Amino acid sequence: MQQRGVRVDPERWGSAVEALREGGIAATLEAEDPAQAEAALHRLITLDSYAEAVQAQAALDPHQRVRATWYPGGTWSGRITARQPPLQSITKQGALRAAVVPAPGCSFVVGDWSQSQLRIAFGLSGDPAGPRVCAAGQDLHSQIGEAVAPGHPEARSLGKLLNFAILYLAGADTLIAGAAERGIDLSRSTARGLIRRLELAYPVLCAWRRGQAGLLDLPVAWAGEIRRTVPLPSSAFDATGTPSLPKILAGIMQAHEVEALRFVLDHTEQRLGSLGYRPVLLVHDEVVWEGPTSSAEEARGAAHALMVEALAGVTRGIPALATVDVRPFWAANG
Ligand SMILES: [Mg+2]
Repeated sequence: MQQRGVRVDPERWGSAVEALREGGIAATLEAEDPAQAEAALHRLITLDSYAEAVQAQAALDPHQRVRATWYPGGTWSGRITARQPPLQSITKQGALRAAVVPAPGCSFVVGDWSQSQLRIAFGLSGDPAGPRVCAAGQDLHSQIGEAVAPGHPEARSLGKLLNFAILYLAGADTLIAGAAERGIDLSRSTARGLIRRLELAYPVLCAWRRGQAGLLDLPVAWAGEIRRTVPLPSSAFDATGTPSLPKILAGIMQAHEVEALRFVLDHTEQRLGSLGYRPVLLVHDEVVWEGPTSSAEEARGAAHALMVEALAGVTRGIPALATVDVRPFWAANG
């Protein structure tokens, strides 16, 4: 990935950056409360941290390719990160990701796991509800969202929020605030009731979650066998020296996701190499391969099988779900 780089159309990129910057400046000036203004300003600063560097590199390179430096184990939980420029920071907002394009005659195959962290938690906890809830092809966020806000356009998004609240022990306040952002009005008693309902539905998962409290070395298992441990960083401790349980849980899920991603990278040459496909971008649970359009469909199938197999290694029998498609650019708006 480091040498190959990823192709960026400098003109499309430049106009997408301009549009985002103008929108961001307006949002900063027009924000009604200070928190909104600060968030908008923060997005602008992040955009500035990579926007010009990407465009300049693409404009100088004969094949318009931008090369980041990739760090295996770039975060404490082992996530692979990109710097100079930080390609993983390219926002989903605006048309920036549509300016990231394959070489002429080539396509992208873009793969993404669905609800991987929840599936990992069900697998690790051995909750008997896991296999039924995570049956192949089921979108867990939609399922939960439709159950609590039937027919609402933001139902899936609320379901995702609720699932993450269960996974990371977020309270009613976090759920109320998140629902409000999605235009859903939740009373405190409703929010508490929703959390309680899921706690009753997944008792083993919830007990397992609390059982991780105090762990200083997080075990990472593959097919049920512990492969390595990840030491908890000092930033995960509060002022009294107590390790934060949500950080421990996030570390466990991320480290297992990384294990699956490593399997994908280790086997990508063997499974997709002969089709001419090579990985060019990684963003947490998303992989982007580039290769000839003539073998794109075959590569899509191979990538899908590889991603499902890789996640199954860390979910212990819980079915994995991956979305893999062929695209003429990284991603459209939003
Ligand atoms: Mg995903």
